Amino acid sequence: MLAPYVLGALGLLIVLFFAQLILIKLQRKKDFIWYRQMIVYKKLPLSRKRILENYPFYRRLSSKYQRQFEHRVAHFISQKNFKNRYGESVTDEQFVLPACVACELTFGRRQYTYGMLDTLLFFPEPFTSPTNNALHKAEYNPSARVLAMSWPDFLQGMADSNDNLHLGLHEFCHVLHFESEHSTNVDAQRFHKQHQLILRRLMDPEVKKRLDNTAFFREYAFTNQYEFMAVLTEYFIESPKQFKSNFPILFKCYQTALLYKDEWLDWTVE
Ligand SMILES: [Zn+2]
Repeated sequence: MLAPYVLGALGLLIVLFFAQLILIKLQRKKDFIWYRQMIVYKKLPLSRKRILENYPFYRRLSSKYQRQFEHRVAHFISQKNFKNRYGESVTDEQFVLPACVACELTFGRRQYTYGMLDTLLFFPEPFTSPTNNALHKAEYNPSARVLAMSWPDFLQGMADSNDNLHLGLHEFCHVLHFESEHSTNVDAQRFHKQHQLILRRLMDPEVKKRLDNTAFFREYAFTNQYEFMAVLTEYFIESPKQFKSNFPILFKCYQTALLYKDEWLDWTVE
């Protein structure tokens, strides 16, 4: 006969097990996550913290979210390999800025470290890709799990915060998009679900007509569904106000895909 406390513990485990199953199901159905951050806060060394403190997204956050963001940036840096193509040493900026962009995009998610990416590889200029011999400013290679970017073009994308061109955001969205098709985690599945809703929305003749008439999104968005999501990302972060007023339902789908809070967006951009 088992002692009563052993039975009690067993009972509790069974309850927790079922509670977990229900939570997983609910999270997928209702598009939420029941927690997004453990109570741990890594810190950046001072030289990197200074770069973080100048990052506009970080400056907009409340102090609670600033601590979480710093933790995520520090953790992202510790998880990935950073390399310069020709062997030069990686600068603090090259560690911190891409990590900031990556974590800004996934700030609403629990899985924020891009499981299908191992290495960030920087080129000193646009480079030719072995796949098609064309010049690229960036390329994500999912089988090698490498994101290659021309460093000057990455910086250029960050420099103007409301031209809706942002190489880093664009590429990190490609990584998330790929993950959403190959992973079962709750964030990946939600992204996938909302992406399907967005595609369905695009089929609607009314929406299609408005997309053509307003020419709100740049032409490149209509290359294929992957480019559409990546371009949407740039507009979502850089012009949320205009995006929302022009295409409120698309905006809502995208916001849900990332579980992004209104307060993290910059609504002052006209
Ligand atoms: Zn692209």
